Order: sequence, then structure tokens, then C-alpha cells
Amino acid sequence: MFDKILIANRGEIALRIHRACKEMGISTVAVHSEADAGAMWVRLADESVCIGPAPAAKSYLNIPSIIAAAEITGAQAIHPGYGFLSENARFAEIVGAHGFTFIGPKPEHIRMMGDKIAAKQAAIGAGIPVVPGSDGAVTTEDEAFAASEKIGFPVLIKAAAGGGGRGMRVAATQEELAEAVSAARSEAKAAFGDDAVYMERYLQTPRHIELQVIADSFGNVCHLGERDCSLQRRHQKVLEEAPSPALDAVARAAIGDVVVKAIQKIGYLGVGTIEFLWENGEFFFIEMNTRLQVEHPVTEAITGIDLVREQIRIAAGLPLSFKQSEVVFEGHAIECRINAENPRTFTPSPGLVTDFHAPGGLGVRLDSALYAGYVIPPYYDSLAGKLIVHGRDREECLARLSRCLSEMVVGGIETTIPLFQDLLHEPDILAGRYDIHWLEKWIKAQAA
Ligand code: ADP
Repeated sequence: MFDKILIANRGEIALRIHRACKEMGISTVAVHSEADAGAMWVRLADESVCIGPAPAAKSYLNIPSIIAAAEITGAQAIHPGYGFLSENARFAEIVGAHGFTFIGPKPEHIRMMGDKIAAKQAAIGAGIPVVPGSDGAVTTEDEAFAASEKIGFPVLIKAAAGGGGRGMRVAATQEELAEAVSAARSEAKAAFGDDAVYMERYLQTPRHIELQVIADSFGNVCHLGERDCSLQRRHQKVLEEAPSPALDAVARAAIGDVVVKAIQKIGYLGVGTIEFLWENGEFFFIEMNTRLQVEHPVTEAITGIDLVREQIRIAAGLPLSFKQSEVVFEGHAIECRINAENPRTFTPSPGLVTDFHAPGGLGVRLDSALYAGYVIPPYYDSLAGKLIVHGRDREECLARLSRCLSEMVVGGIETTIPLFQDLLHEPDILAGRYDIHWLEKWIKAQAA
């Protein structure tokens, strides 16, 4: 096992990884930008290294600085968290080439799944059902037209290098197609430096249901059930729950079986998430994320498995600490992404946190690097914390969530806590009756 791990990330996830390390007797090295010098995860880490100025391109994405920090501190492994360099295959290779262990999948799998066209091909090859779409990239108007004939309208044009819900355009009719393709291409070029796009049928009422998988280097592969992430704004997750209110045990076991076989077939290593849209009882693959997900705690809550601990063990060459038959799903968990944003306009609200009070009690977990006196810098994303509650069933979980939201205090800045409080009054949310378009429609109706 490693003695020392460098955490190449910031915020709540840096703290989350630090916590797993400490419980395993591993020392931690935090890296931080100049803007994050006084942050909680930096203070708690055993050592810390400043890796550059505030902009992420100069610090959290600065590969030479991060490698130098690992060398100086004698860390043996690097955990990339999510976002930043976590899905950068080149980074994983560089980490390995410098004699450190990358805590994550093999670079070839990161690369394959990072290109969504290649990922879809791989999924098809591994027996996973996909959203009907173009046979690869679409470049010309004629290709787009030919693909739409096969797919049917409305179609969604997506960036091959996409992420974070960016670079997607809907074309409702053939008249809109050429314009939508060229807009998606320029958006993709600007956001990802790659203008490759592909087309998919635009599903009207799907749920986003994703499967957590985990594989060690001995060929053991398990699935840890699903997370329902249908509550989204701008294709970005807002609230996640496990299990999905829409799936039953038979459907769960069936899709679990399909993904485990596929993961075995491609020889994947580490944790991964296979994302599906689910409509009328059918699963359609959209992408695979080759890293720890923001919403991993809901899976931890219902399985009792520490995913970061397992990631570290796998990277150290140890086997999974459980078998599929030992994975038991208990109760229900919900995570709210509490953002430093205005709860109606979603305008970011960085700045001084004047007061901070965390909710507590049975079944409550708050993953956050906030404290009273902390200044949220304006340079990064607005995730201020994740409130995860667990109950014996969904009803208990919802009641607990409501209680926690009313206990939680974050003073000085605006947060999305009131948004969740409002949502908990909605009959559809209480009944678990929502698809990926529900929240956008609700927000529109509230604003009207
Ligand atoms: P990203 O990598 O940018 O997050 P994804 O492929 O994971 O992109 O899709 C993000 C979200 O966009 C999905 O959860 C879903 O809400 C929506 N989406 C993606 N593909 C489709 C589709 N074919 N039809 C309808 N909605 C889609």
C-alpha cells in the first residue's frame, strides 16, 4: 500500500479523498492555486504545495507543476478526483512515465471513453444498447440529412469531445438541421478544441440512470447499482438518488449483468460509470465516465462501500474487498448539489462565507470544504457542498432531507438550498415522477 498520495484537485472532492487516505493510514499532499492557500483541504493535508496562480489552466491543469509537487514530496500515487485532469489520458500516461501510480483507469480506456463516438462503438461491441444515431461523426450537410432520415426528428447533435452538458443542439425539423450542426460544430470547437459532432435521436421523456461499476486487476468486476440523475438543469445534474424510483430489482439485475459483462470484455480497471437514458423500460447508453463521479456518495450510502478506498486499493494492486453477492442495497439515498448561486437565476455567488452550520443526525453526510470565514474564490465551479441523506426508504429519506435543509446555514453568500426546499413541496418530486426535462420546465414555470 502507498504511504503518501498527492491529491490533484480542490474543494470538497480533495477533502473527500483526504478522508479516505487518513482512514487507510496514508499521508496526503494537497496541491493548490494561489487563490486556495487557506482552504480547508490544504490545512488538513499532511503537506501542501502551491502549484500556480488562480486560473485552473495555470494550476490545477498544470501537469509539470503537479508532477514536480509529487517529486518534491515523495508521493507515490496521484488521485485526480473528478473534473480537471481526471479524464486526461495524457496526464495518466505522464504520471506513469514519472514512476507514480495514477489512481484511475488505464490511459487507453480514458482515451476511448473520452471520445464519445469511439465510446459508443465500444459499447455496441460490448453488447450495450445505445441511443439510435449516426454511424460516427457527421461533417457535411448531406451526412446530417442522411443520418436524420434514419434516426427521425427531433435529433440531438452532440460533440464527440463533449462534457459538462456543453456542445449539444436539438434540431426539431429538417429545416433546422444544417444550422444546428454548424452551430454545434463551432460550439464544440470553442469549448473542446475539436469540432467533431455526431447525431442521436432526441429522447422526449427519458430518465438519466447510470450504473456504478468497479473492476480490479484480478478480473473481478462488480456493479454497485444505479443512480437516478434525472433532475438536471442545462444537462447538468442537480439532485441524484439511489435507487432510482423507476427501476425494480429485476431491471436492475438485468442491466447490472449487461454492464458487468461489457466491463469484463473491455478489461477496464478501477471505478467507472456507464450512463444511460431510460425510456419506456429500455436502456440506451449515452457515455461512460472513467473516474469517480460527483454523486458517488449516494451509492456509498446504500451499499456501505467506500469507493475512494476501493480505488486506492485497486491502484495498489489489491483485489476488491467484496464480491457481487456481498453487495446489498439498503434503504434510499439522495444527494443535493448545493451551489454558491442565486437559487432562482443561478448566477454564481462567490465571496465570504460569514456563517456556516452543518446539519447532522442519523443518516446525514455533508461533503463540503466550507467553514465560517472561508472566501469562495470566483475562479472555479460553484459547487459549495453536497448534502447526502440516507433513510430506510424514500419517504424517510425525503423527510430527513427536508429537516436537514432547514437546519443548514450558509451565511454571506447565496446558495441553492431554497431551490431544494421548494422542490420538496412538488408532488412529482415527492412521488419520484420526473424525467430529464422536468426541472427546466419547472424553472420556466416559476419564473413566469
Ligand atoms: P455530457 O458529457 O456533456 O454530460 P451526456 O452525453 O452525458 O453529455 O449527456 C448529458 C445529458 O444530456 C443527459 O443526462 C441528458 O439529460 C441529455 N441528453 C444526452 N443525450 C440525449 C439524447 N439522445 N436525448 C435526450 N437527451 C439527451
